[in-house]
Amino acid sequence: MPNTMRHALLSLVCILGFTANSTAAESTVAIVIHGGAGNIKAANLSPEQESKYQAKLQEARDRAYELLANGGKSIDAVVLAITILEDSPLFNAGKGAVYNFEGEHDLDASIMEGKQQQAGAIAGVQTIKNPIKLARAVMEKSEHVFLSGRGAEAFAQQENLEQVDNSYFNTQRRFQSLQKAKQALLKTSWNDMDRNTDIDYKMGTVGAVALDQHGDIVAGTSTGGRTAKRFGRIGDSPVIGAGTWADNQSCGVSATGHGEFFIRFNVAADICARVKYQGLSIQEAADKVIKEELAGIKGSGGVIVMDRQGNVAYSYNSKGMYRAYKRNDKDQHVGIY
Ligand code: ASP
Repeated sequence: MPNTMRHALLSLVCILGFTANSTAAESTVAIVIHGGAGNIKAANLSPEQESKYQAKLQEARDRAYELLANGGKSIDAVVLAITILEDSPLFNAGKGAVYNFEGEHDLDASIMEGKQQQAGAIAGVQTIKNPIKLARAVMEKSEHVFLSGRGAEAFAQQENLEQVDNSYFNTQRRFQSLQKAKQALLKTSWNDMDRNTDIDYKMGTVGAVALDQHGDIVAGTSTGGRTAKRFGRIGDSPVIGAGTWADNQSCGVSATGHGEFFIRFNVAADICARVKYQGLSIQEAADKVIKEELAGIKGSGGVIVMDRQGNVAYSYNSKGMYRAYKRNDKDQHVGIY
C-alpha cells in the first residue's frame, strides 16, 4: 500500500476512534428509583421519618449513579440500588417486607434488560435475603425466566446466594400493620382495604430503571407484596410486562401499586408499547395508563419510566410515591408527595 494511502487510512481510523470515544464519554447515563406508592401524606410522616426516607433514596440513587458514571453497566446499577433499598427496614422489600395473612413473608422480584429483552423473576420465596439478586441469577444463569417457591430457593442455594431465616424479615412496624389489616378484614374485603382506611398496609415496594453508556436500559422491581395476602398470592412486581419491563427501543418501567390491577392491565409493557407504536413521550404514555386507564377502575399506584435518551418520567394516581432520579449533577430530584 502506498504511503499516502496508508496515512489517509490511519487518519480515518484515528478520526473514527476519536468519534466513538467522545460519543461514549458524552452519552447520557441515568438512574431513576422508587420506594413504593400509596396513601403517603405529609400528615402521616414525621419530619424525622421523612428525612430517613429521603436519605435512603438518595443513597441508593447516588451509589447507582456513581457506578454508571464510572462506566458501569445498567444491570449492576439496578441491582445495587435495589439491594440498598432491600436492606433497609423502611421499604416493603427484603428486610422491611410485609407479612402475609399467616404471619410470614413471601418475597417477589424481577429484572429485565432492554437489549435482548432477557428477563428473570422469582415469586413466593421465604429465605432469600436479596430477592433482586436471585431474579438476576435466574436471568443470567438459568434456562428459565420465572421460578417460584421451593424451586427458586433450591436454585438460590445452587448459586450460593445468601439465605436467611424467614424471621430476618420481621419488623415491629409491619407486624402492627398485619394486626390492623386483620381487624379491617372483619369489615371490608382485602381488595378494598387500602381504599377504606388510612393505614399503611403495603407501601414500600422498590424499583429502579437505569441507562448506561452503552445505551442499555434495565428495569427491576422487588417487593414483599401486600399485607395479609393469602393462598400464595403473587402480585405484579415479579410479572414481566406488568410490574417490570425494558426495551431499548422504547423504555424501561418499574411499577408499584395494587398488583391485581397492574397484572390485568399489563401496565409496564403497555406504557412502553404506547411509546414504541404511538410515538408518545414516556410522560404522556405513563399518564395515560396510570391516570386514565388505571385511575378509571380505581387501580391505585404509580410507575417510574426511563427512555433511551435517559429522560425520566414519574406518574402516580395515589397520594404519594417515594422516588428519586439523577441524570447529572444539575438534573436530579428526590420526592415523596
Ligand atoms: N405491587 C405490589 C404488589 O401488588 C405492592 C406495591 O407495589 O405496593 O404486590
